[in-house]
Amino acid sequence: MAELEGLEFGKSDFVLLDEVTMEQFMENLKLRFEKGRIYTYIGEVVVSVNPYRQMDIYGKDNIEAYRGRELYENPPHLYAVSDAAYKAMKRRAKDTCIVISGESGAGKTEASKYIMQYIAAITNPSQRAEVESVKNVLLKSNCVLEAFGNAKTNRNDNSSRFGKYMDINFNFNGDPTGGHINNYLLEKSRVVQQQGGERNFHSFYQLLRGGSDEMLQSFHLQNDPAVYVYTKEGAETTSNNDRSSHKAVLSALEVIGFSKEEINSVYQILATILLLGNMQFESDGESVNIVGQEVVNHISELTATEPDSVNKSLLYRTVATGGGEVIEKGHTEQDACFGRDAFAKVLFGWIVSRINSIIEVKDYDPVLHGKNTVIGVLDIYGFEIFDNNSFEQFCINYCNEKLQQLFIELILRQEQDEYQREGITWQHIEYFNNQIIVDLVEQAHKGIISILDEACLTVGKVTDTVCLDSMDTKLAQHPHYTSRKLSPTDKSMDFQKHFRIRHYAGDVTYSVEGFLDKNKDLLFQDFKRLMYNSANPVLKEMWPDGHLSITEVTKRPLTAATLFKNSIVALVDKLACKEPYYVRCIKPNEMKSPVLFDDARCQHQVAYLGLLENVRVRRAGFAYRQLYARFLQRYKMTCEYTWPNHLMASDREAVEAIVIQHGFQDDVAYGQTKLFVRTPRSLFTLEQERNNL
Ligand code: ATP
Ligand code: MG
Repeated sequence: MAELEGLEFGKSDFVLLDEVTMEQFMENLKLRFEKGRIYTYIGEVVVSVNPYRQMDIYGKDNIEAYRGRELYENPPHLYAVSDAAYKAMKRRAKDTCIVISGESGAGKTEASKYIMQYIAAITNPSQRAEVESVKNVLLKSNCVLEAFGNAKTNRNDNSSRFGKYMDINFNFNGDPTGGHINNYLLEKSRVVQQQGGERNFHSFYQLLRGGSDEMLQSFHLQNDPAVYVYTKEGAETTSNNDRSSHKAVLSALEVIGFSKEEINSVYQILATILLLGNMQFESDGESVNIVGQEVVNHISELTATEPDSVNKSLLYRTVATGGGEVIEKGHTEQDACFGRDAFAKVLFGWIVSRINSIIEVKDYDPVLHGKNTVIGVLDIYGFEIFDNNSFEQFCINYCNEKLQQLFIELILRQEQDEYQREGITWQHIEYFNNQIIVDLVEQAHKGIISILDEACLTVGKVTDTVCLDSMDTKLAQHPHYTSRKLSPTDKSMDFQKHFRIRHYAGDVTYSVEGFLDKNKDLLFQDFKRLMYNSANPVLKEMWPDGHLSITEVTKRPLTAATLFKNSIVALVDKLACKEPYYVRCIKPNEMKSPVLFDDARCQHQVAYLGLLENVRVRRAGFAYRQLYARFLQRYKMTCEYTWPNHLMASDREAVEAIVIQHGFQDDVAYGQTKLFVRTPRSLFTLEQERNNL
């Protein structure tokens, strides 16, 4: 068993601070980081600081040390909360979830991998083949999803460009029997454009650098990312890593159960995207044409479609006239580029959802396996404030508001409500309830998403600026919304472009440029038809409505923001009915340095993660509570007055007798129906006694 730490490493739980102040919090956090103690608790919440170096704390010995132990028996660790979540699931048949949050580069994805590794290591002791194969799929899925969903950004060399929620299903033995992954808001715009110094998704470079000559030749590709418009930005930063990763991804795809044909389809589409990126259009004043027929032939070959159809879908758009007549309208050069990029993005989105649908482990049978319990792991983007904030940041920050709301619901409000209900003396903790900001974004008719959607539905030329005007009119009174028109003296905003939301984590100024296009996320029906007519069944399958003619496509597709909102609402519903565990990740500095603790940056994160409020609630609160009758049932054998049956007037008195006999009367409070215990240590004594009998 790992040694408990000495005081020279600081306090292992922020609850133990002498005073709950920002100074003391930061001092402790910094001391522990400098001493190589990257994890610290707030009760059961793990606060983690990215060490930016390999730590020797994840080995087999460590796993053994934490296995089946209680939180306070070992130094703080992800393994301890993983075990707590696992125990709750196995012993109490509770669905649990582990919510990992923090900004880009704070260590969320690494944490989620350690959690999964731990769960994989402690389950299936009898090595049953079918369970092993489920575990393998779940573990290997990371490698594949990272190839297609992660990219080098200026903040993180391996940044996840999507949110990920993975449910792991367990049978009554506590062994994994299946899994399901949900992705949120993949940053598709990266497929066609990246900021300076950033890269496209890893998989493109992996294919170009690591694909065999034979494979590249059959895809009509050269092994140089600098040649392709979509990858040339990050071309210099490719490394040997891409080559070895390509092999790892290929073998992971096989382990997961992709057939040879499916793997080939995935890479064919990836190649198609690269070729599309290099496609150029020229206009002779009358019509627009594709420069060079070769690229069209290659794309038609890769997608198993007719060259003529490829040509047409890229250059024309079928539209229905007012009179119901269907005509083909030639694109302008600009429309053609827009259509091509939209097509590339949708193709990439398809690859990712295809991978997801195959990764899903489907062999869960409730009759065979008994009650299905779940541990969910959420690795999702943290709050983002950049110099230029666009539609993506708007969605991501909205998602964080929702998660903060859930955190408030689960940790703060429910807690306080229960004390009140049970009549426990309790000092009310002030916290900011961010529901008002959630409403600002998502409320029907009045919220920003509704206003955006309305603008997208309006026929005619509604520009981003017109939409901004509409927001200004409708939201002028909202205390968390402002813009240049509403605060004319604020020169940091532009009249035509900017609006600002006062988020719980701070003010963010958004630029509306591109909001409407990104929200519409339009793909011309012509592309759907092209793919629907593919001779490759895997591709054809992906466009179920591709056979519809333009006059039949009457239903407006949901907008990107509404789809995102719906998926986040569903996610929050899923999380809300589970017992939550939290990992709050902090990024110590911007330089990826293992020795630098940037006080201001860290303090900012501590503030917006609401960690101080968390400590206050935890200190004032009780770690454990149980109905009197249940408590008695479990511990009556540890006390002479209650064993085998008590003769007292009520269960509550009998429970009092147990508490007094074990000497922790100062650590409890008696509610109407439940006993409340402040520190888990008291309970531990009881559990030990029970085991010793
Ligand atoms: P994003 O939101 O951009 O996806 P993230 O929070 O998922 O960011 P990670 O990718 O998990 O961040 O971590 C960024 C990098 O920090 C890792 O690639 C790794 O180099 C380092 N790192 C994070 N956690 C650890 C750890 N526990 N031990 C060692 N290095 C770590
Ligand atoms: Mg990540």
